[in-house]
Amino acid sequence: MRQLIMATNNEHKLREIRQILGGEFQVLGLADIGCTVDIPETSDTLEGNALQKARYVHEHFGLDCFADDTGLEVEALGGQPGVVTARYGSICGYGAAHDSAANIRCLLDKLQGQQNRKARFRTVIALIQNGEEHLFDGIVEGQIVTQLRGTDGFGYDPVFEPEETGLTFAEMGPEEKNRISHRGRATQKLAQFLLQC
Ligand code: IMP
Repeated sequence: MRQLIMATNNEHKLREIRQILGGEFQVLGLADIGCTVDIPETSDTLEGNALQKARYVHEHFGLDCFADDTGLEVEALGGQPGVVTARYGSICGYGAAHDSAANIRCLLDKLQGQQNRKARFRTVIALIQNGEEHLFDGIVEGQIVTQLRGTDGFGYDPVFEPEETGLTFAEMGPEEKNRISHRGRATQKLAQFLLQC
């Protein structure tokens, strides 16, 4: 079986990719290769951050690998929070990075009174295979609702409503979300590429 590293320790992401790639690949996480470093993400683009993580693993462990980065891009905010999506709340002074409640509070504050609620989630996956770099992206268009709805999912799910669904991500089951989500779409492109190699 072909082996591939995903530069993450996030079990949710590992499970999702293993489901999509089926039995063709053995996908290992950072812990499985003894990488305990918190790999820096210092780029000002999603592409840059995904490449930074994938290159770190390739350079230090000499293995084929891939990494992802996701941003929420809000039209009325000029594409923000984008690359700072995970730490938006801390930028508003509401809490630590990765605090979802603080992130959502900051976002709703910034959009208060705003009629244009259009937003999209974008995921970029960087793959390094046989020394070559490849990028795949996945986008889901939607809007930011004014009040939190639903209890499933994580992050900004209770305030993001993908277009033509009438439901927030937090009101959907995981299968319905994965089918249309930014990460689901980028992962499908990665899988198509890997399975034809
Ligand atoms: P990461 O690149 O996957 O770490 O995600 C960056 C930020 O986007 C974090 O704040 C996540 O909570 C948020 N995020 C990523 N994917 C989703 C999603 O599917 N739903 C809601 N929030 C997400």
